[in-house]
Amino acid sequence: MFTHDKKFKPFTGKVWLATPTMHGEELKWMTDAFNKNWMSTVGENINEVERLTAAKIGCKYAVALSCGTAALHLAVKLAGIKRGDKVFCSDMTFSATLNPVVYEGGVPIFIDTERDTWNMDPVALEKAFELYPDVKHIVMANLYGTPAKMDELRAVADRHGAVIVEDAAESLGATYKGKQTGTFGDIGIISFNGNKIITGSSGGMLLTDDIEQANKARKWSTQSREAAPWYQHEELGYNYRMSNVIAGVIRGQLPYLEEHIAQKKAIYERYKAGFKGLPVVMNPFDGKNSAPNYWLSCMLIDGDAMCKHVRGEMEACYVKQSGKSCPTEILETLAAYNAEGRPIWKPMHMQPIYRNNPFVTVEGDGRAKTNAYIAGSGVDVGMDIFNRGLCLPSDNKMTAEQQDTVINIVRACFE
Ligand SMILES: *Cc1c(COP(=O)(O)O)cnc(C)c1O
Repeated sequence: MFTHDKKFKPFTGKVWLATPTMHGEELKWMTDAFNKNWMSTVGENINEVERLTAAKIGCKYAVALSCGTAALHLAVKLAGIKRGDKVFCSDMTFSATLNPVVYEGGVPIFIDTERDTWNMDPVALEKAFELYPDVKHIVMANLYGTPAKMDELRAVADRHGAVIVEDAAESLGATYKGKQTGTFGDIGIISFNGNKIITGSSGGMLLTDDIEQANKARKWSTQSREAAPWYQHEELGYNYRMSNVIAGVIRGQLPYLEEHIAQKKAIYERYKAGFKGLPVVMNPFDGKNSAPNYWLSCMLIDGDAMCKHVRGEMEACYVKQSGKSCPTEILETLAAYNAEGRPIWKPMHMQPIYRNNPFVTVEGDGRAKTNAYIAGSGVDVGMDIFNRGLCLPSDNKMTAEQQDTVINIVRACFE
């Protein structure tokens, strides 16, 4: 419940979490598609964005698709996930990471998060293979633009002969040991959704070094036509190809990826400096091995600085305590000033739809635990970050002055 008196002037224009940032060239390439009447799912823009993306990312093939979720769906099929297969999936992520596993009849087994990068915990993953030695597939995400512990995850996967699908939807442009995310999985995907670091308004790509996978993805995405004079089908098809108009937007955006990352990084660092002295930390990353794209700036409140705060299935409530705060208070206060924050992705093992799926965590005594642990008194890492964390306004058009006000609003929540 919002109880603060207004200490600052509310923003006249809304300060957003993350919105598209256009530069002008997008319109040029969309118009080019229009003028040449390439208004469908073939054309120069598509060819160019595939070429430019593969070159930027350092993979052999990038297949342009209608969205990141479509790319994940084809990736899951290419990886060979079939009805009844158990699949190790990131737990704290957007549901789109693993929905395609379920489209194909796979059964997600959720792997808890580690605290260093907020991604899939390699230790929990190893434990999961002890519990489910037959699993052959891993679907993992790089959350908020921060690369996961890829070497460790890869080592575990290789030890057990498992394939990795890497969801780099949020991490386009981020690097791990100098290599772009999206190249660490056996198959990778990126997204050009409207709130991502660059956007086509929608769109996504499948990334691979395997020409057969790339050709299959192209074929499946265009309804699986065989090379016959009529509509001939040997395989199930999908209408997942990217539009040449959307590709025009992406073609105009691609030259600005690094600029957007620099702006997002500046936002992250301004928050970090602005929160000095508060009992909070920013979303962490491995500064030695990785360079995030800083897509969203997030903060985590120290446990002993949390006021009384409970979240039910659909609503939250808290008790204001001096010197303390909680995500609900901060998000409600930001909203009252016309600024948009967001809770951390609610972990999948906490979602009603996945309540009966197994979940593996090693928090506590380091022993693998399943859902029974949650039913008891313990709190796993994902649940803990969800309880204490939030996403801050991270729009790259937010001015330094606006951001300073956001910082002051957050500071006031701890008074
Ligand atoms: C945005 C997102 C997706 C889905 O991408 P769309 O292009 O919106 O379908 C998948 N995974 C994660 C982690 C995302 O943030």
